Amino acid sequence: QWVYVDGEFVLKEDAKISVYDHGFLYGDGVFEGIRVYNGNVYRLDEHLQRLFESAQSIMLTIPHTKEELTKIIVETLQKNQYRDAYIRLVISRGRGNLGLDPFTCEKPGVIIIAEQLALFPKKLYETGIEIVTVASRRNRADVLSPKVKSLNYLNNILVKIEANLAGVSEALMLNDQGYVAEGSADNVFIVKGNSIKTPPGYLGALEGITRNAIVEIAAELGYNVSEEPFTRHDVYVADEVFLTGTAAEVIAVIKVDGRVIGEGVPGKHTNILLQAFRQRVVEEGVK
Ligand code: PLP
Repeated sequence: QWVYVDGEFVLKEDAKISVYDHGFLYGDGVFEGIRVYNGNVYRLDEHLQRLFESAQSIMLTIPHTKEELTKIIVETLQKNQYRDAYIRLVISRGRGNLGLDPFTCEKPGVIIIAEQLALFPKKLYETGIEIVTVASRRNRADVLSPKVKSLNYLNNILVKIEANLAGVSEALMLNDQGYVAEGSADNVFIVKGNSIKTPPGYLGALEGITRNAIVEIAAELGYNVSEEPFTRHDVYVADEVFLTGTAAEVIAVIKVDGRVIGEGVPGKHTNILLQAFRQRVVEEGVK
C-alpha cells in the first residue's frame, strides 16, 4: 500500500513524519475523510472547499491548488489500484521547534492515505445502532469554529470514550446550551411524520458533506427537511433517528439513552434515504 508523503509515494511501513511536526505535537493542522465509490471520488470539490476553508480559518497555507490535490489523490488511487476506498487527506503545520508558534514551522506537511476498508459492518445497517448522549460539549462556535475540521479531535475522542464506557459505539454531543449538535464523527437527523430535521451549523455541527447530500436528496424526494435546533427530548420522541458521515453513510439509531426509538428497528424513511444515497454516490464524482 502506497502513501503520499510530502511529494513522494512511500510504502505504508515507511510513511513517517517528524516528531517535531506540529500536527503531532499540537494537533495543528486540518484534514478530510473522503470516499471513493467505483472509481468516483465522492464530492471531492466540496471536500477540498471545506479543507481550504478550514486551513484559511487557522491561517495555514496549503502548498497546493485544488487541482494539484485532485491530481495527487487520483494518482494515489491509481498507484494503489483502488476503485473503492476511504481517503485521509491531512495537511499539518509541519516541522517546527517545540514552541507553539506555528510561524516557526518550515512548510506544511501533506499526507494522503488511501485504504480499502469496509468501515461499518453490514449488519449494523440492518439492526441499527444504540447511542447515548454524553457530558462532553461541542466546542463553541465563537472559539474554534466547529466548521474547522482540524487535527485536534480531543473533544470528539472524549465523546468516543464516554460512548465506549456506556457500552455503545457512538454518542451525541450537545452544545453548551443543551441543544443537540452532532455525533463524534457524524451528523444527526431526526424524523417525525413527514418532517426531517438536522441541527444548524451554528449550534456546533460540522457542515457534513453527507449531511448536505441527505438534505438535498430528502428535499428532492418531497420530505419537509430543515435545519432546526432540537433537544434530547425531540430525539427521544422522534419516529426515526439516523446519523450521517463519510464513513458511516446513513446509519439508523434505534435506541438513545435507553429510550427505544420508533419500533426499535431502522425506520422506513431512513432506509429510503440510505438507498437513495447509495444509488447516487456511484453516479456522481470525479473520475
Ligand atoms: N461531524 C464531525 C465532527 C466529523 O468529523 C464528521 C466527519 O467528517 C462529520 C460530522 C460528518 O461529515 P462528512 O459527512 O463530511 O463526513
